[in-house]
Amino acid sequence: MAEIKCIGILTSGGDAPGMNAAIRAVTRAAIYNGFSVKGIYRGYKGLLTNEIVDFKTQNVSNIIQAGGTILKTARCKEFQTPEGRQQAYANLKSHGIDALVVIGGDGSLTGARIFANEFNIPCIGLPGTIDNDLFGTDRTIGYDTALNTIMECVDKIRDTATSHERLFFIEVMGRDAGFLALNGAIATGSEAAIIPEISTEVDQLGQLIQNGFRKSKNSSIVLVAESPVTGGAMGLAERMRREFPEYDVRVSILGHLQRGGSPTAADRILASRMGAAAIDALMEDQRNVMIGIKNDQIVYVPFSKAIKNDKPIDRTLLETLRILSI
Ligand code: ADP
Repeated sequence: MAEIKCIGILTSGGDAPGMNAAIRAVTRAAIYNGFSVKGIYRGYKGLLTNEIVDFKTQNVSNIIQAGGTILKTARCKEFQTPEGRQQAYANLKSHGIDALVVIGGDGSLTGARIFANEFNIPCIGLPGTIDNDLFGTDRTIGYDTALNTIMECVDKIRDTATSHERLFFIEVMGRDAGFLALNGAIATGSEAAIIPEISTEVDQLGQLIQNGFRKSKNSSIVLVAESPVTGGAMGLAERMRREFPEYDVRVSILGHLQRGGSPTAADRILASRMGAAAIDALMEDQRNVMIGIKNDQIVYVPFSKAIKNDKPIDRTLLETLRILSI
């Protein structure tokens, strides 16, 4: 394996709070260890259009507290073609970049894996997604902040729900994963969470009504993961109005505000540890791994595992939620 001198860094796919803290950590840990660093703007798109600049320690000053990503993020169809990746590789070489750190979700790490295998370039992934849905890591960068944002919003909705004695379906993000909905529901004392992982197994709404849901309550809140599998908050509310017209049902869709905001301490620390670990991994000759965290220890997860496997939810949390909502 050729010696690594210059490390490129990019953020890709859906943005997540804490990406900036990760960019800062990768940049500073790399420079500390004698590497040069290049920032690549707009994810894989910037690799193709040569939006690549030198990064010094000052480039990442005063960003640890900022939401979003200073490198911007984008989706790039061309990178999914062999010709696109060939161009990306040529641009990397022309900038002298010989290793890549990719911060993003499932799709971005899939791209990194394919690219790394095609061109034998060392790639390290950092799990940057609010959905917490990457296998092999207990937490992803951005998840804790999004969860806290959901908690603040639901607390506010609870005030109006109680005043009007209403039932609210609140939709949160999580196309394939119910981590935000489930833990958000526990954190806010919601009555239930409707999540994709079990939507095909049981009729969660039917079960809820059958269990005597809302017997002694003057307001109820149900968190719904936005997935097509759950039917979303709108779909469930329509069904409720049809089947149980006695309920005064309202819907609130939290949408993109879940992606924004200053990262929590937990996300800043996670991103900082993972960013520094990405450089450790390269120095230890690790190739094509995602940095994960397990039982508060940094672990290296082969891309193949992180991407291919579905991360299971802890089903005991559903039971806890049910017990606590009586
Ligand atoms: P996320 O990383 O948040 O899951 P996407 O799924 O949109 O976001 O992926 C981000 C980008 O990663 C895509 O726009 C594309 O450039 C790249 N990518 C995703 N899947 C592949 C793939 N199979 N092959 C090559 N590149 C991919």
